[in-house]
Amino acid sequence: MSYTITSKCISCHQCVSQCPTGAISWNGASYEINQNLCNNCVGFYSVPQCAASCPTNYALQQIAPTDYWDSWFVTYNKLVSQMNEAKQGSYWLKWFELYSQKLSKQLQASICNT
Ligand code: SF4
Ligand code: SF4
Repeated sequence: MSYTITSKCISCHQCVSQCPTGAISWNGASYEINQNLCNNCVGFYSVPQCAASCPTNYALQQIAPTDYWDSWFVTYNKLVSQMNEAKQGSYWLKWFELYSQKLSKQLQASICNT
C-alpha cells in the first residue's frame, strides 16, 4: 500500500524532503509518488511523513490494498514500526515474528494441498 498525490496538491514542496525513500518528485507539471519506492514509511516512521507534513487535507491519498493478505501485512508492518519507534520491542516483536512464521507455514501448506 502506498500514497498518491491528488489534484488538491498546492505544490508547496513540503513533503519532498520528508520522504525517507525519495519517492516524491516533480514531473514538470505536478508532484508525484513513485509507487515502487513508496513503502508507507515502514521501517522509518510510524506515520507516513508526506501526509503528516502536508498543509492540505486532501492532497495525499492512501491507495487501499485490494487483497486481504496485502492488507494484513500492511497492518503488521505498521504495528511493528510503531513498536520499534516506541522501543517497546522485544516481547511483541517476538510474538509477531512467531505468529507470522506460523501463518506463513500454514499458508504454504494450504497452497501445497490445493
Ligand atoms: S508514505 Fe512515506 S515513503 Fe510513501 S511517499 Fe509518503 S513519505 Fe514517502
Ligand atoms: S506537502 Fe501536500 S500540498 Fe505540498 S507538495 Fe506535498 S502533497 Fe502537495
